[in-house]
Amino acid sequence: MNVQWYPGHMTKAKRQMQEDIKLIDLIIELVDSRVPLASRNPDIDELGRNKARLILLNKSDLGDERQNEAWKAYFQAKGFYVVKVDSRSGAGMKAIQAAIQEACKEKTERDRRRGIKNRPIRAMVVGIPNVGKSTFINTFAGRACAKTGNKPGVTKGKQWIRLNKNVELLDTPGILWPKFEDEEVGMRLAYIGSIKDDILNLEELSLTLIDFLREKYAGALEKRYQIAEEGTAVQVLEAIARSRGCLKKGEELDYAKASLILFDDFRSGKIGRITLEWVPQEEK
Ligand code: GDP
Repeated sequence: MNVQWYPGHMTKAKRQMQEDIKLIDLIIELVDSRVPLASRNPDIDELGRNKARLILLNKSDLGDERQNEAWKAYFQAKGFYVVKVDSRSGAGMKAIQAAIQEACKEKTERDRRRGIKNRPIRAMVVGIPNVGKSTFINTFAGRACAKTGNKPGVTKGKQWIRLNKNVELLDTPGILWPKFEDEEVGMRLAYIGSIKDDILNLEELSLTLIDFLREKYAGALEKRYQIAEEGTAVQVLEAIARSRGCLKKGEELDYAKASLILFDDFRSGKIGRITLEWVPQEEK
């Protein structure tokens, strides 16, 4: 996680992706259900032209269920097959098998017409860093064949994981680069913890998160911290600091610590299931 991107990396990632895509029938694209747009890179639409497409709304355990459904409908309306999954618990894995067959039925049909039998569907997993690609591959393939997190020295080279007699998965996921040039995208990725915290101003971010939560998920902060949500965002952060005993020397409130607690709680779902991005109104 927390990969820093430079133009050279992006070019390399893109080239790798172009090579890998030639080998496959189906692209399984993971997005984070809390930020389904910010965690996508639409460049994949161009790279994956003519391929079957399946979008997995991953970390659906952290997204708000109503919004998960809205996003599912949103992507389906754009022609994608969509499944909501939780790669950590394994929820949604069964539905993927059916979705893969469905998404690839044209290929299967074409093979049949040409008299080709038993040619498996070949698929690859793609997504931006930290979206859950390794976790998903591990869970879906049902064995420890992909390492979670960033571990240097893991063997390179193409390997196929045989999922069943119909489907094979490329063992290394394709890494998509986030669209950092959009400031909003950067902010949202920061909220979910996909950008290094040490280059961020968490205190400032926590104030915008507080405002968002008060507007869209009224009562969530009150419930988590037993505080009143009234006043300015700074006053709410102050109340959180007090409620959690975040003090510096001399009884001064420690806002930085309170911000860290707020983000830890938010990212691990302790404030509730919260979606940060909503389906664009005009496209509903
Ligand atoms: P990658 O960089 O895309 O390969 O992402 P990882 O597989 O390393 O996952 C990044 C983090 O997200 C890890 O801490 C995982 O445990 C966590 N994670 C992955 N999938 C899920 C999920 O569906 N739900 C939750 N709550 N956490 C997940």
